[in-house]
Amino acid sequence: MAEIPAGAWGAGEAELRAAAARAADIAVDHLVGLREQPVFRPFPPELAARWREEDWSDDPSDLQELLRDIATDVLAYPFGNGHGRFHAWVNPPPDRAGVLAAMLAAATNPSVAGGNHASVHLERQVIRWLCGMVGLPGGSGGVLLSGGSLATIVALAAARQAKAPFDARIDGLAGGPTLAVHACTEVHSCVTKAVELLGIGRRNLRLVDADPDGRLDPARLREALEADERHPIAVVASAGSVSRGAIDPLEEIAAICRDHDVWLHVDGAYGAPAVLSERYAGALAGLSLADSVAVDPHKWLYVPVDAGALLVREPERLREAFTLVPSYLQVTHDPDGISDAPWIAEYTVEQTRPFRALRVWAALKSTGRAGYRALVDHDLDRAVQLAEAVAAHPELTLDSHRLSIVCFSCAGGGDDLQADVARRIQLGGEAFLTTTVIEGRTVLRACFVNPLTTTEDVDALVELVARTARGLRS
Ligand SMILES: *Cc1c(COP(=O)(O)O)cnc(C)c1O
Repeated sequence: MAEIPAGAWGAGEAELRAAAARAADIAVDHLVGLREQPVFRPFPPELAARWREEDWSDDPSDLQELLRDIATDVLAYPFGNGHGRFHAWVNPPPDRAGVLAAMLAAATNPSVAGGNHASVHLERQVIRWLCGMVGLPGGSGGVLLSGGSLATIVALAAARQAKAPFDARIDGLAGGPTLAVHACTEVHSCVTKAVELLGIGRRNLRLVDADPDGRLDPARLREALEADERHPIAVVASAGSVSRGAIDPLEEIAAICRDHDVWLHVDGAYGAPAVLSERYAGALAGLSLADSVAVDPHKWLYVPVDAGALLVREPERLREAFTLVPSYLQVTHDPDGISDAPWIAEYTVEQTRPFRALRVWAALKSTGRAGYRALVDHDLDRAVQLAEAVAAHPELTLDSHRLSIVCFSCAGGGDDLQADVARRIQLGGEAFLTTTVIEGRTVLRACFVNPLTTTEDVDALVELVARTARGLRS
């Protein structure tokens, strides 16, 4: 008879408790100790080489040893986003309640494909809260998924099913009229991926020129739709573009979509939570008019990564695009039985689905709506502070400031200087920011989605950028 090996499966209760306590300590040490570490340091090449070469051992590892390896080799080399001085991309530090919930979600380890167990009901609650946040009406719904990229794929699949003049699920695209999707040049690259993947084809993604503020221009959109001889099925608008936080004029775009009977998907992966702030509630009110909205709880709601959400006005549209119930999964809907509603897997591409809702719920619940409003305002304040400091600085130029993203450049320098400044800062460990391109020019970009960033951190960033540029020029 085969025996249970040593290692985790062989651990007794006492050993498991000791290891769990150690894991919790390591996690907390990490969270509170990051301030003292460089924001980023490159992963040691020797360690990378060791991992490249090391074979999978036949022998089990002791749990404590395993945790020690994780602490010294893994947690010591993060990308930096847990640090208060990390301002790159849209990568926040993890909500602490979300960190704890991650372990507990893994402990229950359900597949949230559907059924009548806690995770399914919790996901519905979280989706309802997020729909409420963006102002979608009662009866709206959605699914949690890996992030904005998958949300865009799922949304455009629903749009294709709803708006194509044929059934792409059955017939594919060959032979039908050519479909098209309209967006603006600033839209996230995940829209291109989605259009490619759904067989619509990149050449049928019509990218309308952005206005000088990086927004989708409604007059140009209307013209483009009117002139389009293909069959437009959807418009993708941004509620906070990733490059510079541009918010498209959602109300006008929604009216145009209604006139042309096309689906409106709003990419709020980054920016949607700003609707909680009085400063942006007006600009983002049009979220409520969308057919679908992507929101990434793992961005501006700080939930540990792998927490995206697609919210839809009419959840049945998702079901029409994805339902497929094989015989071994057929169940009767019975609130007292194993399944009280259609399975979530009927509304999305994933079948076995992780328990994302617990992390999202833990973060939303532990901070509360008012707490989130305060955190979003905190991040917006940091961006205002940076924009004002840059504007007042003789060696810096403010290029753009919208939501919590500030784009700026070192005065008198070209693209190379900005890129060199960013690179030197990234490798210096004192702070971390990146670049983006605005109207053909490379600029520095700082995005604040970080409750740990203080006003001193922003002052330090301004000083660091100016000093670094000076050093490179001389
Ligand atoms: C991050 C982001 C995406 C892509 O989402 P993932 O979660 O990275 O898949 C799409 N749009 C915007 C505006 C984003 O910020």
